[in-house]
Amino acid sequence: MSFSMMKPLPSPSEIQEQYPLSASARKAKEARDDAIRKVITGESDKFLVIIGPCSADNEDSVCDYVNRLAKLQEKTAEKLILIPRIYTNKPRTTGEGYKGIVHQPDPEKKPDLLQGLIAMRKMHIRALEETGLSAADEMLYPDNWSYMSDFLSYVAIGARSVENQQHRLTGSGLDIPVGMKNPTSGDLSVMLNSIIAAQSGHTFIFRGQETHSTGNPLAHAVLRGATNKHGNAIPNYHYEDLELLLEKYEKTGLKNPAAIVDTNHSNSNKKYEQQIRITREVLRSRHYDPRIRNLVKGLMIESYLEPGAQKIGCGQHVYGKSITDPCLGWDESERLVYEIAELC
Ligand code: PEP
Ligand code: MN
Repeated sequence: MSFSMMKPLPSPSEIQEQYPLSASARKAKEARDDAIRKVITGESDKFLVIIGPCSADNEDSVCDYVNRLAKLQEKTAEKLILIPRIYTNKPRTTGEGYKGIVHQPDPEKKPDLLQGLIAMRKMHIRALEETGLSAADEMLYPDNWSYMSDFLSYVAIGARSVENQQHRLTGSGLDIPVGMKNPTSGDLSVMLNSIIAAQSGHTFIFRGQETHSTGNPLAHAVLRGATNKHGNAIPNYHYEDLELLLEKYEKTGLKNPAAIVDTNHSNSNKKYEQQIRITREVLRSRHYDPRIRNLVKGLMIESYLEPGAQKIGCGQHVYGKSITDPCLGWDESERLVYEIAELC
């Protein structure tokens, strides 16, 4: 056999017992879940800003970032709900490279999944306990959901996973919003089919058990741009794209038609500073058309302490600078969040 089974890992309940969430953090998360749910259902007209680094590679710099975000949240609370991106599992285009803190608690060292699960939990719990801001993460490996189900307030299914059955079925059992990204090809029907699947109930195998889910009415769309057959980026944040999604939503009869626009990835073509212009355009489209205003419930922005990105393993490491996709730095992110609060 080409696999070698290295060691069993603790179960989610064992690790939750060892690294528990405090009662006050649980309460803060529950209150946030409620506030975020109301945005998706349309009961609240607050605007979601899911913002943070492409990958949460280091507990100190991530918690530093989330603490800054918490101050911004206080100042913008009337208009915005800020959800830190604390992304601990990274999909890689070719499978090469850093796979997130769960795999590599130290990005410069070899994978260590046990230490990785612990580092992931400690980082998420510290960020939540220090700030009260429950976070978003990507559900790249559905089986890992149970290691983080007690603290997350938002889950994204990535562009490379959205067509996968297990991701869809697992999303159907979550009671927090699940954002289904359009696939890298840009085919909106794949994303909408994924939302249909996640909003329906299913019976399936989950972590070795026959499991039933009741369906997740908070599953919704995330537009992240696409790539054509030549590898060129095709954005999908323009007015016409939002209108097209609205038309398609109307044909499906889905619950809570909602969209988040991801301003980086193939929308910016990873020209991270373009996220500012893209944000402004989306907010203008919301102003122009009340139907688009109802549809677009928030933005996803890649941002960290320092602008841009750095390669790992090349000597000097810059604190708070992305080691995967390039991000806005803190100063421009702060200005942008204030601008969103003013314009939305
Ligand atoms: C991400 O959010 O960093 C990401 C990998 O997104 P996508 O799945 O859209 O490529
Ligand atoms: Mn990214």
